Amino acid sequence: MYTELRRPCRTMILVNPHSGRGQALQLFTGHIQAMLTEASVPYTLVITEHQNHARELVRNADLTQWDALVIMSGDGLLFEVINGMMEREDWQQAIQTPLGMLPGGSGNALAASIHHYSQSPPAWNEELLLSCGFMLCKGLVGSLDLVSVHLASSQRLFSFLSLAWGFVADVDIESEKYRHVGAIRFLMGTLVRLASLRVYQGRLAYLPAKEIPKPPNERAKATRPPFTPQQPETLCQPVPENWTVVNEEDFVLVLAICHSHLAEDLWTVPGAMADDGLIHLFYVTAGISRPALLRLFLAMERGSHLAYGCPHLVYEKVRALRLEPISQQGMITVDGEVVEYGPIQAQVHPRMARLICP
Ligand code: ADP
Ligand code: MG
Repeated sequence: MYTELRRPCRTMILVNPHSGRGQALQLFTGHIQAMLTEASVPYTLVITEHQNHARELVRNADLTQWDALVIMSGDGLLFEVINGMMEREDWQQAIQTPLGMLPGGSGNALAASIHHYSQSPPAWNEELLLSCGFMLCKGLVGSLDLVSVHLASSQRLFSFLSLAWGFVADVDIESEKYRHVGAIRFLMGTLVRLASLRVYQGRLAYLPAKEIPKPPNERAKATRPPFTPQQPETLCQPVPENWTVVNEEDFVLVLAICHSHLAEDLWTVPGAMADDGLIHLFYVTAGISRPALLRLFLAMERGSHLAYGCPHLVYEKVRALRLEPISQQGMITVDGEVVEYGPIQAQVHPRMARLICP
């Protein structure tokens, strides 16, 4: 169910000048500026000055002045913006502001996913940017699922993309130092991490999607996203009986993802949609060989990793999950950003936000 952006669409474009290879601003002026002028889209450019600048700005801004907020960066800046919106008193209205994505980072998972949903052939770099710029000019708005994430410190975050622990989180964060090479940093990070492959111990449980019927096709109810009766209130409570507890406790990775792409060239979830009401949960259990793991990631470029029938790879569609690391050391990321290490619980809220899409 699509709506159209208000015309003229008063647009705030937030640019992170340090994202990707540090060229987001040049990419904007070189490829997008003229397109927006041609399409008569009035915009105000905001260049972020530090981490959390966008989050603070969005938390305090008069959002009635804007018909769309557009991010020109990687996924990390959208994570800031969504959390800034959800921290507001008027978060119910705020989170209805249409969000747009222009890929300017090294991790452009959402942009790659949106482009994929348009059923166009794969695109990278400038071509992907132009595709997303075109969508912005076209101005169609659809729904976007969000995931609320609870941490042990009882902090709550909102995620639009991913929760990762183990191999994927380590590669994402360790490869930050190769940011200057762009999206290929993930392949470099994968090769480095493969050389020092390790096992992560923890407990994983989830609420299978089939346990709850898909909600009717309407936007999420405007209440502070509740925990459903199927969802324990706190991480101290045991998981309910209708949850599945995974028997294995030795993992190489756990990855929960809400979109088709984990990166521009990682087609992780064939069939995912921006508002399918699902968390796509993958885990790889210990015992997988290095070549087999590399093969999975290489196959992901074509979205064919599930076809291998690899016995260590498990894929489930879920509505909520809980991860309790036992290993003392490790990293957990939410939307590619490091969060507090420890028990973590997540639940999907279908169609909570709005997204400029094909
Ligand atoms: P990339 O895909 O290249 O990692 P992101 O959009 O994910 O790009 O941004 C990387 C990090 O930079 C995020 O943690 C984001 O919050 C942070 N950030 C945003 N603006 C700035 C800035 N002006 N200076 C430094 N860091 C910033
Ligand atoms: Mg990032």
